[in-house]
Amino acid sequence: MKSAADVVIVGGGCMGASVAYHLTRRGITNVLLLERETLLGAGSTGRNAGGVRHQFSTEANIRLSIESIRLLERFADEVGHSIDFHQDGYLFLLSSDRSVEVFQKNVALQRSLGVDVQWLDAAAAGRLATGLDVAGVAAATFCARDGIADPNGVTMGFAKAAQAAGATIERDVEVTGIRTRDGRVVAVEATRGRVETPVVVNAAGPWARQVGRLAGVDVPVDPIRRHIFIAALDGAPDTARVPSTHIMVIDFDTTFYFHREGAGVLFGMGDPRETPTYDTTVQWDFLPQVIEVAVQRLPALAAASISHAWAGLYEMSPDANPIIGPAPSLEGFFLINGFSGHGFQHSPAAGRILADLIAGRDPGIDTTPFSPARFSAAPIAGERYVV
Ligand SMILES: Cc1cc2nc3c(=O)[nH]c(=O)nc-3n(C[C@H](O)[C@H](O)[C@H](O)COP(=O)(O)OP(=O)(O)OC[C@H]3O[C@@H](n4cnc5c(N)ncnc54)[C@H](O)[C@@H]3O)c2cc1C
Repeated sequence: MKSAADVVIVGGGCMGASVAYHLTRRGITNVLLLERETLLGAGSTGRNAGGVRHQFSTEANIRLSIESIRLLERFADEVGHSIDFHQDGYLFLLSSDRSVEVFQKNVALQRSLGVDVQWLDAAAAGRLATGLDVAGVAAATFCARDGIADPNGVTMGFAKAAQAAGATIERDVEVTGIRTRDGRVVAVEATRGRVETPVVVNAAGPWARQVGRLAGVDVPVDPIRRHIFIAALDGAPDTARVPSTHIMVIDFDTTFYFHREGAGVLFGMGDPRETPTYDTTVQWDFLPQVIEVAVQRLPALAAASISHAWAGLYEMSPDANPIIGPAPSLEGFFLINGFSGHGFQHSPAAGRILADLIAGRDPGIDTTPFSPARFSAAPIAGERYVV
């Protein structure tokens, strides 16, 4: 393994790969990415639902989406890897007065930033997704440029393009220490040796707090388990009972969501009882609660069987906004953490912004809402659309 690098990135998920790619695009090519697993994308990135949307509740996150989706749309041409991006839209179903009020305000915000979002009644929402039952739905929002993409494709695309430009990626290497001198980073220690470096990027996803501790920096990120279930539809997919497109449907008040996945249906829902854990064992006793909501919205699921399920970890920050930028207390230590369940889709813009900050360039976007220093100051309006 190299014994020195200009930048060491800890973590080979979509974030670490995006930072590596964008650094090389800025001419910083002596970059070493260290991933402790045998494969890249083995953390949260490999367990996510692939959802990509413009529909967020804060200007900062909407801006991350606008930039990220632009790159995802031209990913194959620009980064050189296919990502199976289906822009069949995201449909949010709203059943409470409170949600309707919040979404009305946020649709105005999204439109003011140039996002084409439709406000729909229940009947119009029902027509967008075959088999959807809209009983009790008061209103809905739909953005046709939202969609589903392949997290592995995005991660491998960024990683391969970074390697082609000179970055080095080492797998099966765990970072075990971060050495500092006079308030700045000087080296990382890893299971295959020591690497001298003035810059370390914490791209450790749900393990960000642990990697922060190696440098003596408190990174307020908690791992929260989330499940995904895949329903097999008996026989050939019945396009009269389930959507034929990849439209993502989100029942906002319950957080139940689904989209077509191959011949079946992928679905999930948040469990408010979850507390921080690194345990990703599937809690099968949670499934009946999900099914109770699921069959109300997509009755075809009543006759389906669960072909498989997995659990992954959301990397939650205190305000559900990402943490992007230099750690306030340690020079040379940069954070790209806390994406709170929507990091895959923001990895293109987040990686670009962090690369600019490392390179000393103006990121061209207000980074205050992402500032690692914000938790010691007055609270910032957090993200409301966490599903
Ligand atoms: C069930 C589920 C569904 C989701 N659905 C969506 C979705 O639809 N859309 C969306 O945008 N996002 C979604 N997400 C969130 C998204 O997956 C994450 O925000 C994103 O993957 C975070 O990427 P990351 O690179 O920061 O973290 P990770 O992918 O977890 O990568 C961190 C890496 O760091 C490595 N690492 C940790 N410690 C060390 C160390 N000491 N040394 C070396 N390596 C180390 C880990 O092995 C890991 O590979 C979902 C997440 C889950 C769990």
